[in-house]
Amino acid sequence: MRECIVLRPVLKETVWGGDRLATQFDCGRKQCAAGAEKIDFTSIGESWIVSAHPHGDCIIEEGTYAGETLSGLYKKHPELFGNLPYEEFPLLLKIIDAKSNLSIQVHPDDAYAREKEGCPFGKTECWYVMDCPEDAQLIIGHHAKTREELTRMVRENRYEELICRVPVKKGDFIQIEPGTIHAITGGMLLMETQQNSDITYRVYDYGRLVDGKPRQLHVEQSLEVIKVPDNAGRDGLIHTENGESAARINERKLLVDCTYYKVWKLTTGGTFTMEQSDPFLIATVLEGSGSIDGREMTCGDSLLFPTGYGDICFSGDMTLLLCTAN
Ligand code: ZN
Repeated sequence: MRECIVLRPVLKETVWGGDRLATQFDCGRKQCAAGAEKIDFTSIGESWIVSAHPHGDCIIEEGTYAGETLSGLYKKHPELFGNLPYEEFPLLLKIIDAKSNLSIQVHPDDAYAREKEGCPFGKTECWYVMDCPEDAQLIIGHHAKTREELTRMVRENRYEELICRVPVKKGDFIQIEPGTIHAITGGMLLMETQQNSDITYRVYDYGRLVDGKPRQLHVEQSLEVIKVPDNAGRDGLIHTENGESAARINERKLLVDCTYYKVWKLTTGGTFTMEQSDPFLIATVLEGSGSIDGREMTCGDSLLFPTGYGDICFSGDMTLLLCTAN
């Protein structure tokens, strides 16, 4: 039986971030207490909980591989990750605390990222809503029917007409394909599973100033990659908390199975044992607390189980997201 891998999250300060990652999550609190990073703990937008990206490569906290980076471990020991065909570790998992709106943005696909950015991966991503205000809406997709209409509306700054707003509540899940225009809105706490990529094209930033200057926009790249038409926002939402698609206790429910990853929701009660039969499996606690194989777990904690780990034993009342690479 192999050991599980414990990673230290990388906290990211952003103009739109809040203080929840530093105050409501044990892993964030620990890092603040240690004074680990020179960071403003009142505006942390993202915690990269599993990342091998050069902009924030997680360090392994304990065990045989303590002190190594995830990117290094993936290269040295591909057998721990099922000998995947990717040169780099393929996924990036984040918890996002949006105190205010994120820019309206879009990501490229693999082909565009390779050709235009010299990066191995584009960005397909998915969101699980951990918490949100009562009347929350996400921005996903748009109303333009043709490319000409899209271009005109973008160039004329007619964003309110262009974008599609989708009402969401806690427990909702949605897949965001490359080319889908989107934005996370203020008050949202989300878990994001995505390809290992940090390429974002900002289409619109509400005229916001940072240090007296507007942030850079990428309108030309955006117009090249935005899909037309795009009804993703109207068609793609899954409600996992109630209704037909709600997850049952101690039964993992598949939320998405795409080219790059699978994501499941698991709500545990009492004791539940599951065999780890994927290339690797990442389990992240979103709510509640308990233990996994005797290790205390609480909200925001994540463990990576390598190939051939064997059985994983969950104990306690927890809501988790599980994911693996395809
Ligand atoms: Zn995005």
